[in-house]
Amino acid sequence: MNRASLFRKRGETMQNENEVNKVIRKKFGTHRVLHSRYTGRFPKGIEREYAKMIKRYLEHFGKAYTKYKPVLDELFEEVAKTGLTPAGVTYAQKIIYTMYNDFLRRTNRIKLESKIKALGIMGEKLSIAEWKKEVKRTIGINILDDYYKGEFYRQTLDQWTKDNVNLIVTRPKEILGKMMNIVQNGFLTGETSDSIAKKVAAAYHYDMYWAKFIARDQMAKLNADVTEQAQRDAGVTRYEWSTSDDSRVRPGHAVLDGKIFSWDDPPIVDRKTGRRCHPGQDYQCRCIALPIFDEATLKIPAGYVERTKHD
Ligand SMILES: [Zn+2]
Repeated sequence: MNRASLFRKRGETMQNENEVNKVIRKKFGTHRVLHSRYTGRFPKGIEREYAKMIKRYLEHFGKAYTKYKPVLDELFEEVAKTGLTPAGVTYAQKIIYTMYNDFLRRTNRIKLESKIKALGIMGEKLSIAEWKKEVKRTIGINILDDYYKGEFYRQTLDQWTKDNVNLIVTRPKEILGKMMNIVQNGFLTGETSDSIAKKVAAAYHYDMYWAKFIARDQMAKLNADVTEQAQRDAGVTRYEWSTSDDSRVRPGHAVLDGKIFSWDDPPIVDRKTGRRCHPGQDYQCRCIALPIFDEATLKIPAGYVERTKHD
């Protein structure tokens, strides 16, 4: 058993593996494994912040659209009288493209990446704080704050940030593409300009739902990744699947509730496709992995025991 441990007293840090081991031994007693005595919370506050941030970003698309809509309307009105010509289509597409460039100009000063990263850092901090509570409540050991600073989660955070920037900047591009297609197809199928105008407006219509969906999905994913990393690092090899925080538990997850799985062998969450994943890694999933502490594999990093007055 490797319990690299630290003992801290009034801000002072020193090795005291024996003390840590003594507390752990006592907690396990006659049991070989201990189930988590704490259920972590989800980073809901950060989720809301993230959703707001995405909405503010997309609102610039709305502003660009509002600016160029009268030009589009005018074109469609004219087309209603004369009929849609190839020149008319080219002109409509030009307007849409100008609108997109206007959006890019409005957003080029927004430091999307650093904003997303800052939210990711907050999310990681909360996930780690919850993990530390689980360790403290279940086996009575504190983990030094410093342990999770620096390199430990940098890679997870960097990848997550990159994926999220990509997701968000892709959205306006998708809307642009849709608008272009609507005009093009409308022309080919002889659709009325009124109908095209309505479809263009609908394509632009980003909604808060998308922002909420991304914020919720991505924060849960980050939380799940940090949880897995922290538990594996502490020698936790298995967890209990818990659907406790999942308000709309899908059947594929409900059957997993309370069952025990290995971090090396995620269960099937979708029978049709055979897709496997850990709690929180599925789309919109809010299930959590409750750690199972096994005395044989446990290696609590940088742990210390708080001294009481009687020590
Ligand atoms: Zn779930």
